[in-house]
Amino acid sequence: MTTFQVEQTYSNYINGEWVKATTGETEPSINPANRKQVVGYVPTSGVEDLNQAVAAAKAAAKDWRRLTGAERGNYLFQAANVLERRADEVAEAMTREMGKTLPEAKGETMRGVAILRYYAGEGMRKTGDVIPSTDSEALMFTTRVPLGVVGVIAPWNFPVAIPIWKTAPALIYGNTVVLKPAQETAVTAAKIMECFEEAGIPAGVLNLVCGRGSVIGNALAEHPDVGGITFTGSNEVGKRVGAAALARGAKYQLEMGGKNPIIIAADADLDLAVEATISGGLKSTGQKCTATSKVIIERKVYDVFKEKLLSQIQEIRLGDGMASGSWMGPCANEGQLNTVLSYIQKGQDEGAVLLAGGKRPDDPGLAEGFYVQPTVFEGVESHMSIAREEIFGPVLALMPVDSLEEAIEVANDTDYGLSASIYTQNVGAMLSFIRDMDAGLVRINAETAGVELQAPFGGMKMSSSHSREQGQAAIEFFTAIKTVFVKS
Ligand code: NAD
Repeated sequence: MTTFQVEQTYSNYINGEWVKATTGETEPSINPANRKQVVGYVPTSGVEDLNQAVAAAKAAAKDWRRLTGAERGNYLFQAANVLERRADEVAEAMTREMGKTLPEAKGETMRGVAILRYYAGEGMRKTGDVIPSTDSEALMFTTRVPLGVVGVIAPWNFPVAIPIWKTAPALIYGNTVVLKPAQETAVTAAKIMECFEEAGIPAGVLNLVCGRGSVIGNALAEHPDVGGITFTGSNEVGKRVGAAALARGAKYQLEMGGKNPIIIAADADLDLAVEATISGGLKSTGQKCTATSKVIIERKVYDVFKEKLLSQIQEIRLGDGMASGSWMGPCANEGQLNTVLSYIQKGQDEGAVLLAGGKRPDDPGLAEGFYVQPTVFEGVESHMSIAREEIFGPVLALMPVDSLEEAIEVANDTDYGLSASIYTQNVGAMLSFIRDMDAGLVRINAETAGVELQAPFGGMKMSSSHSREQGQAAIEFFTAIKTVFVKS
């Protein structure tokens, strides 16, 4: 087992080689649990580096697309095996770089392994249909072709799963890839790339360029040789990336923010509902696009639910994700901590009532990390910022309602539509929720979250550009359809 070493210097991976940025610059990736620890030094690349990576990917595309799906799949199987063997090292890099607890990081890494295996198998599945022609001497069918070079722009919150769930389908369907990870988690991205290198991926097929979003991400979105851009991140950046791709006729896929509700009906099992609210809202320090944010409770059970929730929140142990007793780590970076604190202030300024948390922890042992207490508000109304905007932190807003109908109205009163949950035992309530809830992921008696990797993932409204990731749905984005008409 390779162990993770801090303070190493990392490079870009271009055309099968580790190369320093042409700018000659690197920057430290900081441990959010202890700002004094440098996890590694990562390249601050320039546009020239990105251009080299795109050129390498373009050159490699010709041979890569001519391999059979099974041959491409073999590389993914190999990469899965290497990642599985190196899972502890990769998970440690993730925990040190962005703060989620080690068990969560390990779970995410193993999900990356499973995604690679799933898409390796996809290389053997059908990619077209025969369509009956009205001409008895003709054959008409569809076939799918790769987009060419795909640009992957990834966020820091799932630094293994998201790059892999974009890269694996891109590769299996015959595209080559340039990955631009979030700069905050570039060390973790380099670890993924090491796994592909060890798996023997051909030069140029998968490239890594680290740097600022405004420089490298922007140049990738605008590059004329990039046939498709798949982006996950904030709405603000997503809109720009989409506009840049649209302007030059490239395909784009945007997965963006969320403001995810959980509805607690009066007949819900309240213990399970509390558990789901805490897990869905506070795991990963609330930094999940699917994190529970609005907790909408039928008034009849409001007080009981609130008491149970608050008593369990007192038990949550904050701490360095590397320590076995920690349940919740820090925010992933200082900017994120400041955003969360400013929303907590806004919540109070706008008239919501703070029930728990609301500040950085008092424990002096946590002073060097970007920690914030798990926070609960009540008296939250739909017009308030904390009920409308994505906070991306451990903040729950309790909102009582008088009926299921009102609950769904409040749940839908947001610009986002990613994940939504209801806890109830009533089949009628479940069916109404499935029918009326505007969200891409609708979950019954399960916390707000993503879904299993073989099912489509994505949002409605401002959460997404409405294409879907994961599972077989991914083929829609990563290929173009050719309709073929053959006459004898
Ligand atoms: P972000 O938008 O700041 O950054 C995402 C990526 O875009 C990073 O790689 C960044 O470097 C790059 N980027 C920044 N500016 C750019 C520009 N001008 N042009 C091109 N690329 C640029 O997001 P983040 O802070 O890394 O992640 C948090 C956000 O991601 C949240 O809004 C969260 O909801 C969202 N998210 C969504 C999903 C989903 O599947 N819907 C999953 C995870 C995270």
